[in-house]
Amino acid sequence: MKIAVAGTGYVGLITGVCLAEMGYDVVCSDIREEKVLLLQSGCAPIFEPGLDSMLKRNLDAGRLLFTTDPELAYKNAELIFIAVGTPENPDGTANLDHVYEAAYTIGLCIDKDSIICTKSTVPVGTNERIKEIIRSVKPAHLEIQTVSTPEFLREGNAMYDFFYGDRIIIGTESEEAAKIVEQVFLPLKIPLIKTDTRSAEMIKYASNAFLATKISFINEIAAICDKVGANIEEVAFGIGKDRRIGPQFLQAGIGYGGSCFPKDTKALVQIAGNVEHQFELLEAVIKINIRQQLLAVQKAKELFGSLEGLRVAVLGLSFKPDTDDIREAASITILKALLAEGASVIAYDPVAISNARRVFGDEIEFTADIQTAISGAELSLIATEWDHIKYLPLEKYVQLMANPVIIDGRNCYSLKDVSKYPITYISIGRSALHPEQAQQHTRPGPNMKGRYDETITSILSD
Ligand code: NAD
Repeated sequence: MKIAVAGTGYVGLITGVCLAEMGYDVVCSDIREEKVLLLQSGCAPIFEPGLDSMLKRNLDAGRLLFTTDPELAYKNAELIFIAVGTPENPDGTANLDHVYEAAYTIGLCIDKDSIICTKSTVPVGTNERIKEIIRSVKPAHLEIQTVSTPEFLREGNAMYDFFYGDRIIIGTESEEAAKIVEQVFLPLKIPLIKTDTRSAEMIKYASNAFLATKISFINEIAAICDKVGANIEEVAFGIGKDRRIGPQFLQAGIGYGGSCFPKDTKALVQIAGNVEHQFELLEAVIKINIRQQLLAVQKAKELFGSLEGLRVAVLGLSFKPDTDDIREAASITILKALLAEGASVIAYDPVAISNARRVFGDEIEFTADIQTAISGAELSLIATEWDHIKYLPLEKYVQLMANPVIIDGRNCYSLKDVSKYPITYISIGRSALHPEQAQQHTRPGPNMKGRYDETITSILSD
């Protein structure tokens, strides 16, 4: 069976490479020539553990092809996956331009009966529109069916998730198409859930909204722990032991980011709004997350007063560990706020620097060496829980910072460990350590509170 994939981003590339690894002949198409040239030479344009070797292996085996030529991609294909981006419109709705363009091109190029599976995250009703578009341009004698197959991979664990995911959703009104898609994924032995198209589309949004809700929920509890002297980690452990709740997504921190949760939660609020339902719970989740992303800067302001000229090392740029993706990362919000406050910033990340440089240019210094980042810094602010950061010995902060202060936005260190060192340590939902030393750090600045409020207002209105 020949399979085609439209889009070679995080989802399309992983799908194409992993399907080839399963033994299928796969052609991946993208509109970006530089990306395709890189892929043809065996280099992945994204960082994803395990991807490089699997990509090369399947290119060498001749099962995997990359092209910008849609005819080459879609001719003869029996199954075509649409995995193009669905970014956020300024009003929060999902932008479906890429999806509809891909559908149109597929309709023009196919030359046999085919099944079009949409992996892109799309609002309810989009697969019906995709079918209409393809039908409007395809040769009249051809039959097509559409299937909603939403994607649940986690960046950083994407290869694992393809082969060992929790479930595969197959949403379609065509029994025949469902059977064919089922056969393709059957060897993976992952539970397959067959449902109607609209429910499949909704499952994706509802899943992301629920996970985002868990994160904002624990962050609200953390905010209260901060004030009542409880420890959020003890609390999360205690509630996570309840099997009805579960331990996952109960890590308090500076909020969720990435290419999915922020845009998908906003899109679901809009989807609900379109049918005159105000999704108040999700609106609160989004609002809490915006506040949370700025919490580390707020804590720095409380500690130092003015951040003007303060040497700050921001540790971690990607929205989570093991990816180079910085889309909607908390680090971006933090860096913007620090720059607005006049701080002098150096940022460390093991893999995401080139992506961050595209956003900040020369406004901040970058380093891929964590010790260089913290050397001489007056504040180290942890934004991503990379292992490189979590396992950096605490002595290093003592050795390399004159008066070590850490604001840990991801609760990377245990309070017990930090308490052994002369480090001022502020984390999320846990007691501050050595706050008495904090007095030494205060640097009165002009109209501090007002300026911080202005910064927040301008970042929120971005
Ligand atoms: P991405 O932005 O990384 O990649 C999209 C790719 O599609 C780009 O390379 C772009 O050039 C290409 N493209 C655009 N128009 C095209 C066309 N007409 N034909 C061929 N290629 C085209 O996006 P992504 O992160 O892979 O996400 C894709 C979809 O999957 C989105 O809807 C996203 O919400 C969803 N999703 C993403 C993740 C994730 O972790 N990234 C997880 C689950 C679902």
